Amino acid sequence: MEWKAGENTHENLIYACFGGLSNTGITATLASMEAVKDLGLRKVGIGCLAGLPIEVEPVLGKTNAAKKIITVDGCPFECSKKVVERAGFKIARSIVLVRDIGMKKKPFHEDIGGDLKGMMNYVSTEDVRKAKELIIQAIRE
Ligand code: SF4
Repeated sequence: MEWKAGENTHENLIYACFGGLSNTGITATLASMEAVKDLGLRKVGIGCLAGLPIEVEPVLGKTNAAKKIITVDGCPFECSKKVVERAGFKIARSIVLVRDIGMKKKPFHEDIGGDLKGMMNYVSTEDVRKAKELIIQAIRE
């Protein structure tokens, strides 16, 4: 079934950076998923960030239809904020985890060749919880 403009539209959209090379990028995505779990898909969905620069039609349509766009970035490179802005959309709130919840970025490459752990060992459930609360607050305010 194809999505049509105005049908089954998420009220708001989150764009998360999801950098898989650091704890910050992973946390941005996990927190966004937790926010969707808490609020429900009618209230908020996670937009396909990679679809924006290549102008995937349903992605642009859903982004146009969203009342609010929240970006969630792990670090000050602000990848999702910049991609969304360059696609021409206005962001209601930009969350940057290093700035807004005091996360310390841990690039995974630092441990390659040394004490490399499983990826989830680098992610703190407390950071995910704090980031999720900020996202929910941004959607509700
Ligand atoms: S904002 Fe930072 S953590 Fe997120 S994808 Fe970009 S470089 Fe990685």
